[in-house]
Parts: sequence; C-alpha cells; structure tokens
Amino acid sequence: MSDDERVLYETPAPHIVRIVLNRPEARNAQDTKMLYELNDAFDRAAQDNEIKVIILAAAGPHFSAGHDLRETSDEKKRIVSQKKRVGTWHSSGSGGAHPNTAHEKEVYLGFSERWRNIPKPTIAQVQGKCIAGGLMLVWPCDIIVAADDAAFLDNTVSMGVGGCEYFAHPWELGPRKAKEVLFTADWVSAEDAFRLGMVNHVVPRGELEAFTMKLAERIAAKPLFALKLAKEAVNAAQDAAGRGLALQTAFAYHQLAHSHNMQVHGLPIDPSGISPAIRKK
Ligand code: ZN
Repeated sequence: MSDDERVLYETPAPHIVRIVLNRPEARNAQDTKMLYELNDAFDRAAQDNEIKVIILAAAGPHFSAGHDLRETSDEKKRIVSQKKRVGTWHSSGSGGAHPNTAHEKEVYLGFSERWRNIPKPTIAQVQGKCIAGGLMLVWPCDIIVAADDAAFLDNTVSMGVGGCEYFAHPWELGPRKAKEVLFTADWVSAEDAFRLGMVNHVVPRGELEAFTMKLAERIAAKPLFALKLAKEAVNAAQDAAGRGLALQTAFAYHQLAHSHNMQVHGLPIDPSGISPAIRKK
C-alpha cells in the first residue's frame, strides 16, 4: 500500500468489507484520485464471491467535506489519464461544456449510480459533517447509520448551482424538505435525517462502528442471492417511479449551471459562495 492511498479496504469479519475514506487531514475531501480508488474498492467487493455486505466508513472526525475544490483541472486530467474509465462519456478536447459534462458524468453521477446498483447490501457509517459531495457517497448506500454528531448539508445553491451532481434529494428527504434544504443550505441533523427517513439509525458516536458491524453481521448471515434479489426489487420500485430519469434531468440542469457560471463569472461556480482561498484557483 502506498502512503498516498485515499481509501482503505478492510475485512473486519467474514463476508464483510469495510471501505474507509482515508484522507482525514483533508476532512475526506474527494478528489479524482479518491473517487477512482473508491470505485476500485467497490468493484473489488462486488467481484469477491465471499463478500456479502459492504460498509462505507470514513477516518477522522468528519465523514466528508465534499468535492475537493482545490484540485486543479490539470491534476484531474493527470489522474483520469492513468485510470480505466467505467463510463462511455469520454472527455473531449473540444472545449465548451463537453469536457466537464463528460468528467462529472463519469466520476460523480456515474460512480454514485454505479455504486447504488451494486447488487450487494451497502451500509454507510457516518460521523461528523457530510457535505454536498459527501451525500453522493452515503445516498447510494442501502442503509445509513449515523452517529449522533452527524450532520448533512448541500450548500451548492450558494455557489450558483441547483444541487449536487447526484440529485437524490427529493427521494431521500421528500420534496418539501428537499426544497427547503436546497434553498436555505441549512444543516440536516442526524435526528432530522432519521425522522425524514433518510437515515436508518442514530447511535452515540462511540458506538457507531460496533453498531454498524453488528447490523452487517446480521445481514451477512442471510443468503447472498436473496439479498441481491431484495435489493434489486426495492431499487426497481424507485426506478419505476421515475427516479433515474429525474436524476438525469437534474444532472442536465447542473451542467447548465456550470455553463452559466462560466459565462458570467469565468468559473464553473459562482465565486461569491466559496471561500477566498479556493476562489484564487
Ligand atoms: Zn458539478
């Protein structure tokens, strides 16, 4: 394992994998390298016949600060050039909206939807802050266990964009709360998330890992094929209600916002909504 690996792959018990975001010094901000490593880890767990349950956890006090806005486009290109793409929207040198749309289709909407469709039970284990892009890691999971200090936020409207790239808000929060959360950029506490049905359990911070493991062990005792069928049946119910199409539509609006901001501000986001340190990039 090299020192700069962003993701750990642990096997804490038979049939269970724990994938850990391991960039705590950056509050687990997701750069392109982390996202591809995460995708590799999910693929490894999906392909391992011994594995029945996948836990997604994070090192440090916070689950994820979201996308790493400090990452330069040159760095993104460098990482992407080393990786095998999983989607078919290859980037193009043609400029305009094409390269960014292709990139976000792959590493944001593409990866999140891909992980949501892994036919093995996935459990997000969340502590501390989970911001914007962080939601795109926990929402694709089947079950979310939150520590009592967990809090969730999508502040993208402040940055001139109508929501993060994986727009599951109405499905996760209900339409009214989704709108309020987007309009105000208010935090959703673990208790509120539980009340809204976004989170399955809220447990004391010190019990988070043990509680999640116990839940994973109970699930891992079941036959894998039946688990897969149960998961796909629930996903099919959401998809029959138009979920996938709604996500694609929101993604198109998201790209429209990036293009709009490029025309108005010369940046993909409205710089008034981000910190001065990042604005210089
Ligand atoms: Zn975007």
